[in-house]
Amino acid sequence: MTIFVDMDDVIADTYGKHIELYNLEHKQDLKLNTITSGEVWQNVPETHQASIGKHAYQLGFFRNLNPIKDSIQVMEALYAKHEVYIATAATQFPNSLKEKSDWLDEHMPFITWQHRIMCGDKFILNGDVLIDDRTYNLEKFQGDTLLFNSPHNVNDSGYKRVATWLEIAELYL
Ligand SMILES: [Mg+2]
Repeated sequence: MTIFVDMDDVIADTYGKHIELYNLEHKQDLKLNTITSGEVWQNVPETHQASIGKHAYQLGFFRNLNPIKDSIQVMEALYAKHEVYIATAATQFPNSLKEKSDWLDEHMPFITWQHRIMCGDKFILNGDVLIDDRTYNLEKFQGDTLLFNSPHNVNDSGYKRVATWLEIAELYL
C-alpha cells in the first residue's frame, strides 16, 4: 500500500507547541486536557488570539515540535512494510520546508528524501491512504482516509478516526 502521512498534529505536536508558546508569551497556564474543542486560539481570551497566529512564522517553530506519542516506532514499522510518504503542507510557511526536513532527519531519519513530499494541496496525491488531522485535506483525496484526532476536529463527522498511533499500527501492521 501507498500511505501518505501528514506531519502537523499527526507525527509532530503543533497544537502542544502553540499552547507552550502561548503560556510563555502571556504568563498563562493553559493545559491541553482542559481544552474540549477548537483551535488553540479559540480557547484563549480575544486579546491574546493574534499572537498565536504569529507562531508559525517564527523561526524554529516547526523545528522544535515534539513527536506525537508512539509515532516514531509505528512509522518505522509501517515504513518497512508499506510505501510510506510524508505529505506535509510546507509551502504556506517557506521556512518550514527546511525545518520539517531537519525535524525528520532528527526524529525519523529512516524516511529518505524521496519519501518526503513537501507540498501545497494534497488532493494531487495518488495512493491508497491519507492520514491527516484536517478534513479539508481528506475530503478531496481519492483513496481511503484516516482522520487523526485533535481538539480542533472533534466536531467534524463522516470520517474514520484514529486517536493514537497504536490504532494505526493495528490497522496497517
Ligand atoms: Mg496536520
